[in-house]
Amino acid sequence: MTPFRKNLIDGEWVGDAGSRNINPSNLDDVVGEYASGDAEQARQAIAAAKAAFPAWSRSGLLARHAVLRKASDEITARKDEIGRALAREEGKTLVEGVGETVRAAQIFDFFAGEALRLSGEQVPSVRPGVGVEITREAVGVVGIITPWNFPIAIPAWKIAPALAYGNTIVFKPAELVPESAWTIVDILHRAGLPKGVLNLVMGKGSVVGQAMLDSPDLNAITFTGSVGTGKRVAAASVEHMRKFQLEMGGKNPLVVLDDADLAVAVDCAINGAYFSTGQRCTASSRLVVTDGIHDRFVDAMKDRLAKLVVGDALDAKTQIGPVVDQSQLKQDEDYIAIGRQEGADLAFGGERLDRETRGFYLQPALFTQATNAMRISREEIFGPVANVIRVKDYDEALAVANDTPFGLTSGICTSSLKHATHFKRNSEAGMVMVNLPTAGVDFHVPFGGRKGSSYGPREQGRYAAEFYTTVKTAYTFAG
Ligand code: ADP
Repeated sequence: MTPFRKNLIDGEWVGDAGSRNINPSNLDDVVGEYASGDAEQARQAIAAAKAAFPAWSRSGLLARHAVLRKASDEITARKDEIGRALAREEGKTLVEGVGETVRAAQIFDFFAGEALRLSGEQVPSVRPGVGVEITREAVGVVGIITPWNFPIAIPAWKIAPALAYGNTIVFKPAELVPESAWTIVDILHRAGLPKGVLNLVMGKGSVVGQAMLDSPDLNAITFTGSVGTGKRVAAASVEHMRKFQLEMGGKNPLVVLDDADLAVAVDCAINGAYFSTGQRCTASSRLVVTDGIHDRFVDAMKDRLAKLVVGDALDAKTQIGPVVDQSQLKQDEDYIAIGRQEGADLAFGGERLDRETRGFYLQPALFTQATNAMRISREEIFGPVANVIRVKDYDEALAVANDTPFGLTSGICTSSLKHATHFKRNSEAGMVMVNLPTAGVDFHVPFGGRKGSSYGPREQGRYAAEFYTTVKTAYTFAG
């Protein structure tokens, strides 16, 4: 039996016409049907969030704490079921699906605590007898637009701080993964949020998302997705003078130096480039390898790639699930063809795979003989495709790593303290990893990048307050 999930607007579940959610591991499996909202529903949701804001922003801290705490507890209690549904709709493996669900619970737990830790500053004025208070207040109605690759973690890391700091929300998830989005909203709704505080409008980006961008009543928008849509969010937000935050693509380098522990380097590269089917903005898509270790590294990568189990996300043996949908698969295959045309050597994989069920299965691909000037090294592919770029030494490796329009994460595998330290200081990325995969971050510390990867304040941890609050400076003359 496939469920029909509705949108939540002003505390009511609404919507009739729906769109189908298909399992990328098995195209005959329909996960459910979901309301597909229109621009009018988006406007109603924004109006409801605006009406709910004064009371919610002045609500007691315990009310916010309680809702976030309850949500964390329910997600934890249901982690296997929710993680399975996530793996079914997105195609990441069960382990990754459950892990991401646990991460969402941890994020709600963290921000339940943050709701109780709001603080400000009190400082003397330069004028005798005057006191100055610096406090943080909620921004207002926050629009949340999310992508498909982390169906529960990204909504959690935007919704939890928005609520903790007293904002109200209009949430538009990606069309491909509505089940995880609906589940998180259902849990928060039942946890006791007043009507209108959190509104869910599933539907098309060009319709619901665009109506959000065009609204003068959204005070802030937080967006994760493609560079193209991010630029639209930016332009529309400037037009309305609203706060905005963008997390977009990456073309993250993993540098492997001659003195690296080969096993560590291969583990980092396999995990960073291919886990979650390479569909992470923090994925390592450029493997920048020095001469002395290059051939051993490539051989070891090919050995490991040959052993990776690509299959149905719900099969416990699977290590790499399918690509998320037909259009992403086409993009991956197009880039594999482009890489060959550009003269890179397809050293492993890249072909479609048949499995018991019809699904978007792709053998993870490794290019060697790639240069940093090739399109496959400059443009985000967002699939299980990585390029080895051969360099002569550390200095060239650093230059290549930084020569990119993006700047989300970077990594280095080395046993040299000197090079590790120099790389941490000079890598032009928001997050730098030493002897660790470029993907895989903690939830209590800032997340975000530089250059074309990100815009605006960091997400997650205490740094989230920067976006979800606005600072007030109050002066008092008490005589
Ligand atoms: P992806 O390639 O990851 O799907 P998108 O940027 O297209 O990247 O999608 C990210 C999110 O942005 C999705 O929720 C999508 O529906 C939404 N979106 C797409 N187009 C628009 C738009 N014109 N206005 C607002 N949101 C949009």
